[in-house]
Amino acid sequence: MAKDEKPEDWETATRLVRGGMARSEHGEISEALYLTQSFAYPDAASANARFAGDAPGFIYQRFGNPTTQIFEDRLALLEGAKVCRATASGMSAVDAALRGLLKAGDHLVAGRALFGSCRWICAELLPRYGVETTFVDATDLSAWKAAVRPNTVAFLIESPANPLLEITDIPAVCAIAHEAGAKVVVDNVFATPIFQKPLELGADVVVYSATKHIDGQGRVLGGAILLNDEELFEKAYKDLLRHTGPAMSPFNSWVLLKGLETLDLRVRRQAQTARFLADIVAAHKNVAACAYPGRPDHPQAAIVDKQMTGGGSVLAFDLGSQEAAWAFLDALQIVDISNNLGDAKSMATHPATTTHRSVPEAERLAMGLTAGWVRMSVGLEGQNDLARDVTRALDRARANAR
Ligand SMILES: *Cc1c(COP(=O)(O)O)cnc(C)c1O
Repeated sequence: MAKDEKPEDWETATRLVRGGMARSEHGEISEALYLTQSFAYPDAASANARFAGDAPGFIYQRFGNPTTQIFEDRLALLEGAKVCRATASGMSAVDAALRGLLKAGDHLVAGRALFGSCRWICAELLPRYGVETTFVDATDLSAWKAAVRPNTVAFLIESPANPLLEITDIPAVCAIAHEAGAKVVVDNVFATPIFQKPLELGADVVVYSATKHIDGQGRVLGGAILLNDEELFEKAYKDLLRHTGPAMSPFNSWVLLKGLETLDLRVRRQAQTARFLADIVAAHKNVAACAYPGRPDHPQAAIVDKQMTGGGSVLAFDLGSQEAAWAFLDALQIVDISNNLGDAKSMATHPATTTHRSVPEAERLAMGLTAGWVRMSVGLEGQNDLARDVTRALDRARANAR
């Protein structure tokens, strides 16, 4: 019987389990792990053809690997992208995504609330190479528009943004960028590929830290760059990735393939628990404000409804002072104090003194990140256990603080 199943027609769950599967002659059910740096050619002419790009096949782990390729093909199928390249970490993906687009004399516009290392690349690293960055309030369309200059080449969006989960109207900002001839890079970590599809919303390039929900169990680092424009890939990224070496380890690809199989299940459950906890947190008397993109009181709730299909696994809340925030963290018995996110284990952090401590105070305050904010990544524990732990810690937050 003819095999006429098309992976592009599969539901998300099927894509995550079976997408990109390439079996060896042994017919293994689980993806094979190819820990090899190089590959042998049957003859000199084959080596020549592979290097010339005239024949398929692997050359060297820095350029590609069979295990990593299954990961790339599966993630591309999930995202609906023509091209995916895996990288060693989320930061190597962000770095390459930006450097591939920019050169000396160019200008970048970025939301001012960003993951700390992304901010460092924009504010500190790129200017050393002659690229200027303008940071804007990413929720304000007129600010994106006003930041455009004749030499603006790229926009960087993180939505929801770290740590306060502001939402950027991705289609509207993409329209402003494209009108100016600029490309848009979206860091989609907080939304996950399950709840937001930036390429469909108009973005040119999507980046992930696979370290977060894609691994989802706190084991390995990884990242990915995805795009639909094959010409842009050839021009901006192919040689950069090949020659600068941010390649993902095949071992990590293998671990992350396992993560992808359960991504949909995990992230939906985490988002459900996050919403449940956000409602409890928002109603607690010691909480001044609670931000969760899945709640109707989120400042950009209307945009969330338009561009996301779920609120994600992270919430943030303001306890009024650093003392209260620290008292909350110190009273937790199940949830860990940690700065990671997307893990099966719930964790909470105090951004002002950890992930965002290097952001100048004036900038921190401009993003609304005052000393009372706590960011919490919701894991896979039972929701009633988490509710008890969080409520007990919230009760302590004020008693110990004021
Ligand atoms: C974690 C994270 C990164 C960096 O990823 P690593 O895998 O830690 O290098 C980039 N952007 C966002 C939004 C992140 O959460």
